[in-house]
Amino acid sequence: MAKIRLGGITRRFDSPEGTIVAVDDIDLTVPDGEFLVLVGPSGCGKSTTLRSVAGLERVDEGSIWIGDREVTDVPTQNRDIAMVFQNYALYPHKTVRGNMRYGLEKSADLTSVEIDERVEDFAEMMGIEDLLDKSPAQLSGGQKQRTALGRAIVRDPKVFLMDEPLSNLDAKLRLQLRTEIQQIHTDLGITTIYVTHDQEEAMTMGDRIAVMDNGEILQSGGPKDIYNRPNNQFVARFIGQPTMNFAPVTFDGTTVSGEVFEFALSNDRGLDPGEYVLGIRPEDLVLEPEEPAGSATVAVTEPTGSEVIIYLETPNKLTIKSEAANEPGIGAGVTFSIPPGKIHLFDREHGRTIYHGPTKRDETEVAPVQSVEE
Ligand code: ATP
Repeated sequence: MAKIRLGGITRRFDSPEGTIVAVDDIDLTVPDGEFLVLVGPSGCGKSTTLRSVAGLERVDEGSIWIGDREVTDVPTQNRDIAMVFQNYALYPHKTVRGNMRYGLEKSADLTSVEIDERVEDFAEMMGIEDLLDKSPAQLSGGQKQRTALGRAIVRDPKVFLMDEPLSNLDAKLRLQLRTEIQQIHTDLGITTIYVTHDQEEAMTMGDRIAVMDNGEILQSGGPKDIYNRPNNQFVARFIGQPTMNFAPVTFDGTTVSGEVFEFALSNDRGLDPGEYVLGIRPEDLVLEPEEPAGSATVAVTEPTGSEVIIYLETPNKLTIKSEAANEPGIGAGVTFSIPPGKIHLFDREHGRTIYHGPTKRDETEVAPVQSVEE
């Protein structure tokens, strides 16, 4: 196990349209044993960052450290890392056993019997012990990815790098393997960087999340921290499903006014009066309160079983997530309140966060990606 440190890494690519800065001066430290998720939209530079750590991509500037060793110019096979990709990348002519043995034969100083024992132990851990003599062509997608994971961890690498390993699997299997990967991480404690574009995967798997856009890390922190206190509107929009509501508002020193709502905000944190963008998560809007901030007509409802997502006919298409029992009819009028302790205010020009309702203390009280009951 080892800490990973990226010091100001930059990677540029030449394209017919000009130079693309895929990774733009990234500094990142992943402490020993941490499970860090790099998350962001397609093309933001996640894979290039991961491939740079793996040594599959050279960096134009900056340095990469694994443990106490600088590995910036060290070839992949000498970095003591293991990598798992979306497309499994198994050797097609080797059996599951052969695939798992291969890395060990190359890298470890073990006898053939010891290698067999180790392969069998890890195959059991991955639940593929009955498949050891099958070839990849005979395996399902889930079994292939279990084999790829087994092949990676059997070598006991210092660092484990995963690039969208679950993207090719169906939703149920994805959930199952998510849990298994977390279990492996708990058992083995290997420092891991996991790349995904799926914010829910990031929220549920990461000890820490780094949100990327345009080759930069916009924010890194614990899942609850990122969810409750996003640094800017991009992170606020990217993390959380349904997406956070945004609406232009004016603050006059005592009251926040929007197109269809108005509520008091005590100005104990010295917020300047002015024009902002309000952010409020759908689960934080309260339906039919005693003192409503606003009212609107229901455009569409989406029941999800235990909850209902309510889309309102408002200029900024406000969305409310509520308990299923609260489902209103389409076209009905509803009232809602906006708890000041749950709001965010962003500057209109750059989207930087100016004000957070949730404080650090709230993080222990508010669960991420679940509805919050008032
Ligand atoms: P995705 O989730 O779609 O894989 P990503 O966040 O992993 O995206 P990267 O694959 O790292 O993004 O790509 C970052 C940027 O660099 C993109 O604009 C991509 O087109 C560009 N890029 C990546 N590899 C190359 C290459 N070999 N040559 C030219 N451009 C590249």
